[in-house]
Amino acid sequence: METTISAAGEMPAGTARDRWLALRRGFMGRCPHCGEGKLFRAYLKVNDACPACGEALHHQRADDAPPYFTILITAHVVGALILLVEDRFEGLSLWVHAMIWPALVIGLSAALLPRIKGALVGWQWALGMHGFGGPTD
Ligand SMILES: [Zn+2]
Repeated sequence: METTISAAGEMPAGTARDRWLALRRGFMGRCPHCGEGKLFRAYLKVNDACPACGEALHHQRADDAPPYFTILITAHVVGALILLVEDRFEGLSLWVHAMIWPALVIGLSAALLPRIKGALVGWQWALGMHGFGGPTD
């Protein structure tokens, strides 16, 4: 369900934004409002406003949630892989483990962190949190 939102980004009372669309757009690093403008101006720095539609994005307060979810997902994926590899390739030397797992953790975390932050900003925008709903919020 998509609703019309004023040019100023104000959310009329009683309207709802499409949460899953906003979450997906944020995950892809795009503005949750239009899906065109870039959400980030740097690796984890959110643009103050969308360069395409002007939607105010400075209201976001992702705080510690993106690292929390990144660690949660990365630890479960890598932990399962460690157990799987240890089960299938018994006797794999420790130096091989020492080379594989830290690199995988760093790579997966670096890839997931901005996507999860974008998704959370999109979610906050869709729910009208922290001023995303307009001046009456
Ligand atoms: Zn936009």
